[in-house]
Amino acid sequence: QKEDAYIKELETKIEEFDPKTSRGELFKDLPLSHQTLKGLRDSAFIKMTEIQKMSIPVSLKGHDLLAAAKTGSGKTLAFLIPVIEKLYREKWTEFDGLGALIISPTRELAMQTYEVLTKIGRYTSFSAGLVIGGKEVKFELDRISKINILVGTPGRILQHMDQAVGLNTSNLQVLVLDEADRCLDMGFKKTLDAIVMNLPPVRQTLLFSATQSQSLADLARLSLTDYKSVGTAEVK
Ligand code: ADP
Ligand code: MG
Repeated sequence: QKEDAYIKELETKIEEFDPKTSRGELFKDLPLSHQTLKGLRDSAFIKMTEIQKMSIPVSLKGHDLLAAAKTGSGKTLAFLIPVIEKLYREKWTEFDGLGALIISPTRELAMQTYEVLTKIGRYTSFSAGLVIGGKEVKFELDRISKINILVGTPGRILQHMDQAVGLNTSNLQVLVLDEADRCLDMGFKKTLDAIVMNLPPVRQTLLFSATQSQSLADLARLSLTDYKSVGTAEVK
């Protein structure tokens, strides 16, 4: 099949991609699918920011990642692109259930991430969902089994995991912990640990933070395996 050959080609390019020798400044210099490049172009995302240049190739290769870079440096695309690409290459469909889980500390940040996801992912076939406090859990339960990429706040995600017919995470490929320093500052450590305990151990985990600290290093040790560390950020 044509798509299989295309995916194979992408995988080979990712394997061979060497950020040290590549002069890749633009998203189109990366081995990304046509759909993602089109979605990025539509939103006028052309040139990568520093953290995107440093982290996207590492994430595309499937490594666990700890990325630290200050607020406003473009961390959202740095994890959304690898998430979308991973599921695309796995030929994910609605029948495969939840493929990626993205955890944000606040409703506001979760909503922003969800919006960027629906924008740059508009040419892909995945379903995206948002679970944040304030809406009826019952209402969300109907749709949640068909969601491929779920964005939400820690408490609400754990609440869904605890439901009798809750979130099925057995197929999960990628976990993203966004704004992890803020999650810890807001007292979500135990909730995050409980979520991570519920997830399949074989998965890719991407941890993003604006700052570095001892508690962040502790969270990384618990949630990441053999991870690469990129970025520059103040050490608290
Ligand atoms: P962070 O999570 O690091 O605080 P965001 O992902 O929220 O940063 O991005 C900050 C702003 O930069 C957003 O308005 C976003 O649209 C914009 N942005 C991110 N990446 C790019 C890019 N490659 N080109 C242009 N604008 C970008
Ligand atoms: Mg952010």
